Amino acid sequence: MIDILGYPIYNGYKDELIEKIINKEKKIHVVSGNPEVLYQGLYEKELYNNFVSEESLIIPDGVGVVYSAKIKGLQVKEKIAGVEVMQDIISYCDKASKTIYLLGAKKQVVEKCKNTIEKTYKNVKVVGYRDGYFDLENCDDLIEDINKCNPHALFVAMGCPRQERFIIKYMNKLPCKIYMGVGGSFDIIAGEVKRAPKWMIKLGIEWLYRVAKEPWRIKRLGSIPKFMFKALVYKNVG
Ligand code: UDP
Repeated sequence: MIDILGYPIYNGYKDELIEKIINKEKKIHVVSGNPEVLYQGLYEKELYNNFVSEESLIIPDGVGVVYSAKIKGLQVKEKIAGVEVMQDIISYCDKASKTIYLLGAKKQVVEKCKNTIEKTYKNVKVVGYRDGYFDLENCDDLIEDINKCNPHALFVAMGCPRQERFIIKYMNKLPCKIYMGVGGSFDIIAGEVKRAPKWMIKLGIEWLYRVAKEPWRIKRLGSIPKFMFKALVYKNVG
């Protein structure tokens, strides 16, 4: 683990991560640690408390986190993309014949995502799914449905911090073992949105590709320098 702004961030290889997730005896919240959600956590106690607790495992998702570590003289072994961890968890569920539930994205996207997963992985059962457009404070029917389906893993694709708020608010009322917020991953799996070319991912400029495709994302990039600045100041104070 490395510490950035008090957050313990996983610092190992992606291949070893899945063992860590499945070997945890208690429930686990896998957090895609990008600067946007971690920055938000600094101002939202519920998020922060959960992220730093035993329940959560934060993965270094995003160059902003890698550079923030560098500022502190630390080296992140591997930047790990949330969508790849999601695929590893599905693969595990496939081998172990475990069930999953998909929550988030638009109705036709989550449906397509379910079909793609079931076509690609023969033993994994998507026991339930629901789009991500509902009132977080008012969703008893959804909580009841997830409880009834009793899935092993719950993927929540509603963008951050909405998905993290949902998981933190409800994980103790749900029976799942693995909880993960996966942002736009359902859109990627459903084939609605393409990931950046491999060379861009390798260079750490996947964000540039996403901004070029969806220019409204530019305002969300502001959290990267803000987060890095905080990390720098934290270093000087600490
Ligand atoms: N979304 C949702 N409910 C909302 C807002 C967004 O389900 O109230 C979905 C949206 O349809 C898309 C995903 O959340 O599938 C947004 O992912 P984005 O790419 O913004 O997430 P990021 O990975 O950037 O956090």
